[in-house]
Amino acid sequence: MTAGSDLALPVVETFHSLQGEGLHAGRSAFFIRLAGCSVGCPWCDTKSSWPVDAHPTVAVTTLAEQARQAQGAGAAFTVITGGEPLHHNLDALCYALGVAAAGLPIHLETSGVDPLSGRFDWITLSPKRHRPPRRQALAACQELKVVVSDQHDLAFAEAMASAADQAGRPASSAPPILSLQPLWDSVAGQELAIAHVRQNPRWRLSLQSHKWLGVR
Ligand code: SF4
Repeated sequence: MTAGSDLALPVVETFHSLQGEGLHAGRSAFFIRLAGCSVGCPWCDTKSSWPVDAHPTVAVTTLAEQARQAQGAGAAFTVITGGEPLHHNLDALCYALGVAAAGLPIHLETSGVDPLSGRFDWITLSPKRHRPPRRQALAACQELKVVVSDQHDLAFAEAMASAADQAGRPASSAPPILSLQPLWDSVAGQELAIAHVRQNPRWRLSLQSHKWLGVR
């Protein structure tokens, strides 16, 4: 834990469900959705998470205890999401999770606009065209997941994949899984993503299965 790490964090919600998207879709997961985001994606489906002050602050030890209980109930990993979770220093939260829920892997979902803090077993980087990610995030992520609604998103996705390849990843670290995720209600995005994955075997399709199923 470093000086300045947050011992309490603004929380939108916590819940135990299935991971809906990305490589780990379909697996049991405990979610911690932190408040606060200044990235401002027009299509954001969690805009209620943007204002920090609209949500209660919860001690990291309380969140870790909730994760421990979810672990006992079958959760395979914890997902820290948002909002943009890295607007906050996550050292204390990750430390508390490691103590209370030892052995429960910690996943992070981030846009990569902030410096990394915390310790993670899996980082899904979802970069945004209007706020490109830091090189540090490109070098550290295990999955690069790009939302697709138009042709420019595919060009951006390829640019991000190249940037991740050149970001100075440790030699022992495998390249990230490359995922294209059509914007939920975009038929054009679905068609573009499917065509691109069909023609480019490095990429795979990610669907927001929780939305298709109508579950959280
Ligand atoms: S980074 Fe995530 S939470 Fe923030 S505006 Fe974009 S989609 Fe919404």
